[in-house]
Amino acid sequence: MAHARKEQIKLAEALQKTTQYKKHEVECLLRMFKALTHDALKMDRNLFRDVLHNQFKMTDDILMDRVFKAFDKDNDSYINQSEWVSGLSCIMRGNMEEKMKYCFDVYDLNGDGYISREEMFHMLKNSLIKQPSEEDPDEGVKDLVEITLKKMDKDHDTRLSPQDFQQAVEEEPLLLEAFGACLPSYEVVTSFNTLVSEDSDINIQLFQQQQAQNQNRQQAV
Ligand code: CA
Ligand code: CA
Ligand code: CA
Repeated sequence: MAHARKEQIKLAEALQKTTQYKKHEVECLLRMFKALTHDALKMDRNLFRDVLHNQFKMTDDILMDRVFKAFDKDNDSYINQSEWVSGLSCIMRGNMEEKMKYCFDVYDLNGDGYISREEMFHMLKNSLIKQPSEEDPDEGVKDLVEITLKKMDKDHDTRLSPQDFQQAVEEEPLLLEAFGACLPSYEVVTSFNTLVSEDSDINIQLFQQQQAQNQNRQQAV
C-alpha cells in the first residue's frame, strides 16, 4: 500500500511538469479519476463518452470517438491516469498551439495526417443535419466544403495539412472548431477549472453524484 502511494506521488510530480496543472490539482484529477473508474484506474470508451457527455456537455458522436483517440496516446483503447490528466490539461487549459494540434487530430478522422475533402464533408454534414428544409442538403454541404477549402487550404493541394490549419486559425481563431464542437464550452471550462483548483473532496463528491444521477437518468430513458 505504501508502495502504491509512493507511485501515485511520483506520478503526480511527473504530470505537474508536463501539464498546465499544479501538484494539488493533479492530485485532485487523479482522485476524480479513481472515483469515476471505481478504482480500476482505467477508463474504457463508453465510460469516457459518458463523462464527456454528462460532465463536459460534449455530444457529437463522430467527434467523441476521435476525442477518445486524442486522449488515448498509447493507443491501447483505455484512458489511463496520465492520459486523463494530460488530455484534460489540453482541452481545459491548453494554449492555442496545443488546442490547434488537438483539434486537427480530432478532425483528421482516419489519422493520416491530413483533413481531406471527404472528411470535411462527413463532419460538416453531421453538424449541419439539423436543417432538413433544403431540397438537396448534400449540395449545401459540398458548397461549404469548397468555401472552407478556399479559406483554409493555403498550399492548394485540396486537403488540409497541420500547417494549413494552423495558418488559417491564426488568421481567424473561430476556425479552430470549423468542423464541429470538440472542445468544452467556456462555461464548462470555467466551472471545471474552479472545481479542480479549489480541490475539495466535497467538490469531487458533487462531480460523482452528478455523474451517477445522469447515468440513472439515461438508464431510465
Ligand atoms: Ca491508453
Ligand atoms: Ca485524414
Ligand atoms: Ca493543403
